[in-house]
Amino acid sequence: MMDQEKIKQGVRLILEGIGENPEREGLRETPERIARMYEEIYGGLTEDPSIHLQKTFRVDNDEMVMEKDITFYSTCEHHLLPFYGKAHIAYIPAGKVAGLSKLARTVEVFARRPQIQEKLTGQIADALTENLKSKGVMVMLEAEHMCMTMRGIKKPGSQTVTVAKRGRFLEEPKLVQEFYQMVR
Ligand SMILES: [Zn+2]
Repeated sequence: MMDQEKIKQGVRLILEGIGENPEREGLRETPERIARMYEEIYGGLTEDPSIHLQKTFRVDNDEMVMEKDITFYSTCEHHLLPFYGKAHIAYIPAGKVAGLSKLARTVEVFARRPQIQEKLTGQIADALTENLKSKGVMVMLEAEHMCMTMRGIKKPGSQTVTVAKRGRFLEEPKLVQEFYQMVR
């Protein structure tokens, strides 16, 4: 689905643009390598996140379910540099839960696209709300952005934290408190 040729041409142009010689030995296969890598790190563009949330299990209670410290890697759409960190997800089931690994899969589908962290957080929350019909969802991402640490203001180790709340988490501060306690 991706246009590999176009990516290769683009990478060659960038190398020329920065004053490099794309024909020198170390760089000769770089366009090809990057084109293959993009298939992987931008593979989420052609993936439907709902497929991971279709298989569900029935439950009787409506206690909060949390999966925390899900490692993710994404790319900021402003600089095409990585940002990466941890995702914490909680939801209140309405009769059905998803397999725990499927939450991580859902994060991955959205992370493997050019992204901004705020949007990524909201997309994960919306996917859980829509597919599991959850009564409430809260998602928190903590990430380090290479565009902040290797360029620009250069603040290594600084974390960007984003939160998205849906349903009961918007109405019940106690649930939000419980979320933060469980994340810690
Ligand atoms: Zn950036």
